[in-house]
Amino acid sequence: MKLILLGAPGSGKGTQANLIAEKYNLPHISTGDIFRENIKNETPLGVKVKAVMNTGDLCPDDLTIEMVKDRLSKDDCKNGYMLDGFPRNLTQAKALDEFATPDVVIDIDVELAKIEHRLVGRRSCPKCAGSFHIDFIGDRQNCPICGEKLIIRKDDNVETVKERLSVYKSQTAPLIDYYKNKNKLRVVNGDQSIDKVFCEIKKVLG
Ligand code: AMP
Repeated sequence: MKLILLGAPGSGKGTQANLIAEKYNLPHISTGDIFRENIKNETPLGVKVKAVMNTGDLCPDDLTIEMVKDRLSKDDCKNGYMLDGFPRNLTQAKALDEFATPDVVIDIDVELAKIEHRLVGRRSCPKCAGSFHIDFIGDRQNCPICGEKLIIRKDDNVETVKERLSVYKSQTAPLIDYYKNKNKLRVVNGDQSIDKVFCEIKKVLG
């Protein structure tokens, strides 16, 4: 199965992606995670994208497309994969059409008005990729799943979040219609518990 997960930043894509990857045994390809890993390791790619990522804007299309193309050519993607955070605009979607065709695109739908609160209160685990909201974990400092010290992502501050949402509205949201017109789109309601969202996704995936 070749799956694309769409959805605004903070819609719960990453959390659902972890659950899907485990249940369906799919490689989880998150462009955001790959960029963050490169920044952490100070690779040439990381050095190139660090500043732009911190503003909340998108990294250059050519770098991103090349990176995904390379990743999808690896052996573990032969029988399918799940893309999380790619494509992020029409240029990327059209480029992807040239080298890979998704079977299904799932949009995790959450009202944008609710997203800012979700992102600004988000705490992330750098080890197991879990993410948690302070409304639920309070001032707990360690990951409830693996015990690692939780972090606040550099781009989860009010100013950057506003920019990311504006980028989402202008560049990524048009992909909903793009995939609807190709009959690939399935929408799930992301404004419910993690379990319920995952149940809807399982129904879609069969
Ligand atoms: P994410 O973890 O998906 O929220 O992505 C974090 C940041 O990584 C984004 O705000 C962008 O700066 C960058 N990024 C991730 N995926 C892409 C993409 N497909 N195209 C361009 N930039 C991306």
